[in-house]
Amino acid sequence: MPKKILVLGGGVGGVVAAKRMAERLRGRVDAEITIINDTDYYLLPPLLVNIALGDIEPSAAQLPLSLLGKRGVKFVKAKVTKIDPDNRVVETDQGKFNYDYLLASLGVDFDFQSYNLGVGYHNFTLEGALKLKEALRSFSGGRVVLFTPEPIYRCGVYPFEMVSQLDTIFRKRGIRDRVEITLIHPFERPIQPLGPEAVKITEETFARKGIRYIGGAKPVTVDDKEKVVVLSNDKVKYDLLIVVPPARLPKPFEGTPLVADTPMGKWTAVNVYTGRSLKYDDVYLPGEHSMPYIGLPTAGVPVHFTALASAAAISGELLGEPVDPAQITAMACALDYGDFGMMFNCDVKLDLNNNKAMWIGSCYSILTSPLGRLIKDLFYKTWLATTM
Ligand SMILES: Cc1cc2nc3c(=O)[nH]c(=O)nc-3n(C[C@H](O)[C@H](O)[C@H](O)COP(=O)(O)OP(=O)(O)OC[C@H]3O[C@@H](n4cnc5c(N)ncnc54)[C@H](O)[C@@H]3O)c2cc1C
Repeated sequence: MPKKILVLGGGVGGVVAAKRMAERLRGRVDAEITIINDTDYYLLPPLLVNIALGDIEPSAAQLPLSLLGKRGVKFVKAKVTKIDPDNRVVETDQGKFNYDYLLASLGVDFDFQSYNLGVGYHNFTLEGALKLKEALRSFSGGRVVLFTPEPIYRCGVYPFEMVSQLDTIFRKRGIRDRVEITLIHPFERPIQPLGPEAVKITEETFARKGIRYIGGAKPVTVDDKEKVVVLSNDKVKYDLLIVVPPARLPKPFEGTPLVADTPMGKWTAVNVYTGRSLKYDDVYLPGEHSMPYIGLPTAGVPVHFTALASAAAISGELLGEPVDPAQITAMACALDYGDFGMMFNCDVKLDLNNNKAMWIGSCYSILTSPLGRLIKDLFYKTWLATTM
C-alpha cells in the first residue's frame, strides 16, 4: 500500500511542500501525494496589489493546480470542512479522505464582520482586488482612508506600501492635490516591527508624500452612513475606504486539538523547527495559521520556509534518513513604496527551548532605491514562474 500524504491548501505553503516531497520521494518510496484546494488554481496573493492597481490581469497571478500532475501530485478540487486527526480523516464537500501524513497550509480567514469592515474595499481576495480596481479607476478626488484595526493581518508591510503606492498613482493621474490619504494603524509608529531604520524611512516617505498616519489607533467601528471610521478618541471621514481584515483561524481547525490559545488569539500549535503539530506526529501545519504561535509574521516568506521544513521532515521519515530541513535563517522583505522600493533582510534565530522564532529588531535595509521596485517585481514574478 502506498503511503498517503494529504496536502490541504494549494497556495504558497501547500504547493511548495507537495512539489518538494514529490521531488524527494519519486522513485524511492511508494507514496501518493494528493493536494486539496477549493479553487482549481494557485494564486500568489502579493500580486493582488498589482491587480487592484491595474498593473496586471488576474491570469498573471495564477497557475492551474493541475500542473502539479507532471510531478506525480494528484489535485482534487474540494472545500475542506473538518479535520479529525484522531481518526486520520479529512472531511470535504466532495467526501472524506484519509491519510498517513497530513500537511495543511490553509492561510488565514479574513474577518470582515468585526468593526463593520465589510463596507470597505480590499485586496485580500481576487474578487476584492477587482472591485477595488474599479473603485480606484472611478475615483477622482476626496478622502482615501486605509483602515487596519488589528496588528495580526496577512502581510504586515502591506498597508504601508499601499498608501505609498496610492500617492504615486494619484500623482501620475494628476489628481494628487485633490486627494487626502490617511492610514489608521495600531502600531504607534509605522512599520514598527521592522525596526528603527524602516520606521525612519517610512516616516520620511509619509512626510514627503503628505500621507497622514494615525498610529496607536483604538478602533471602534466603521459608520458607513456617516462615512467615518470611529476610533475611541476620534472620527476619521472617508470618501473611499480600504480595509485590512484581521486574520483569524481557518474554520476547518476550529474545535480541533490542533489549536492552542495564545495571547494573540487561537492558532494552530506547531514545532518551530519543523512545522509539526505539537499533538500529532503525523500532522504538519506550516501555513499562515501557525505563524503567530511560533512568533513569525503572517506572511508568505516564513510560510514557504516552514513548509519546506515540514516537507523535509516527512520525506526524511519515509526515506528512513534525515533530510536537511532548510529551515528559515533569514526573511527577505521586499517593499514597493510607489516611487522607490526597498529590500529588507531580517535575520531569524530559532529558539528551540521556547519554540519561538526571534527576528524582531534584526532587520536592516539591503537596498533602498527606485531599483528596489524592479527587484520586488522580479522577486514575485520569479516566485510564480518557479512555483510548479
Ligand atoms: C495584498 C497582499 C500582499 C502580500 N504581500 C506579501 C509580501 O510582500 N511578502 C510575503 O511574504 N507575503 C505577502 N503576502 C502574504 C502571503 O501571500 C501569505 O502569507 C501566504 O500566501 C500564506 O500562505 P498559505 O499557504 O498559508 O496560504 P495561501 O497562500 O492563502 O494558500 C491557502 C490555500 O488554501 C485554500 N483554502 C483555504 N481554505 C480552504 C478550505 N477550507 N478548503 C480547501 N482549500 C482551502 C485557498 O484557496 C488557498 O489556495 C501578501 C498577501 C496579500 C493579500
